[in-house]
Amino acid sequence: DLFCQKLPKLELHAHLNGSVSQKTIRKLSELNNKNFNDELSRIDSSVSLKECFKIFDIVHSVTNTTEALFITTCDVINEFNDDNVIYLELRSTPRYVEGKMTKNEYIDTIIKAIEHSKKTTPGITVKLLVSVNRKNGFKDAEENIKLAIEYYKKYPECVVGIDLSGDPTQGDACLNLLKSARDFGLKIAAHCAEVPNEKEVMDILEFKPDRLGHCTNIHPNLSGTLKLFNKLIESKIPVELCLTSNLKCETVPSLSEHQFSYLYQANHPLCLATDDKGVFNTTLSQEYKLAADTFNLTKEDLKKLVRSSVEFAFISQQEKEKLLATIDNKLTIIK
Ligand code: 5GP
Repeated sequence: DLFCQKLPKLELHAHLNGSVSQKTIRKLSELNNKNFNDELSRIDSSVSLKECFKIFDIVHSVTNTTEALFITTCDVINEFNDDNVIYLELRSTPRYVEGKMTKNEYIDTIIKAIEHSKKTTPGITVKLLVSVNRKNGFKDAEENIKLAIEYYKKYPECVVGIDLSGDPTQGDACLNLLKSARDFGLKIAAHCAEVPNEKEVMDILEFKPDRLGHCTNIHPNLSGTLKLFNKLIESKIPVELCLTSNLKCETVPSLSEHQFSYLYQANHPLCLATDDKGVFNTTLSQEYKLAADTFNLTKEDLKKLVRSSVEFAFISQQEKEKLLATIDNKLTIIK
């Protein structure tokens, strides 16, 4: 849909390695003289949350050098730029690959690619959230949070927050560690309620992250979660919603039952996002189109959705005002 494509958009929930397109994987395979066709066919047939996590392992196996990571990051930024995303927060888990790269080199490479994009695609502003993969345990989480603080001090213009993600059926939410990062000024985006876990969800809501991801198991019609739903509404914490991702991972039964409609009706702060545009074969424009078609949103509603997302970006008030002015300027010329 042309309108959704032209709409100037903000992407606030995108995992770097989940956003890698098949085109980039092919490019990397040519550079390495390696054939990734098997890997690509497995990506095409992805279903269920568990399967998705296997696919991330596949993508990781092709982005395991600083060269590949640099190319990947540049391509992902370019593709979001082509989709008229004017503000992008990428999130990624620092990775140590024996003999190939350290976690510091991992983050340095992404920052280098973001710097590079300022020259090649000046129309998109890109920030980085350092991810913690809950599956990897306490020591790894502690290391990543230390790195996030180190890079936040060094590059406050670029590294703005922490993302808690990874297989939600494993590990824990490391809230004490997240608190230490927040005390330094980093913003926190936490995946929340991707699987039923009342105690943990309650703890996360009480911790009050700056944004929440998914919240699929906080739903007025799901048995036992009305209490959580009311608590979420009361908290006013913005929620990042990823329709295609939830549908493909089967964490929601259908789009019409998606929590979007309940949160939207309650006037809860929310934004649309792709999650993993490569793995789920989507774009942010498609997510807007899907929301418009499923929930009967008008063009004015979509414009409002974009404008309200600015408030949830991990940037200063001054940057928000500038972004809003850019959006309003662009909105006057699209029909
Ligand atoms: P990376 O951090 O390597 O750049 O991106 C891939 C990683 O993002 C995955 O290994 C996983 O930890 C996280 N991730 C991507 N999509 C999801 C999702 O839908 N839910 C959760 N909990 N984690 C995700």
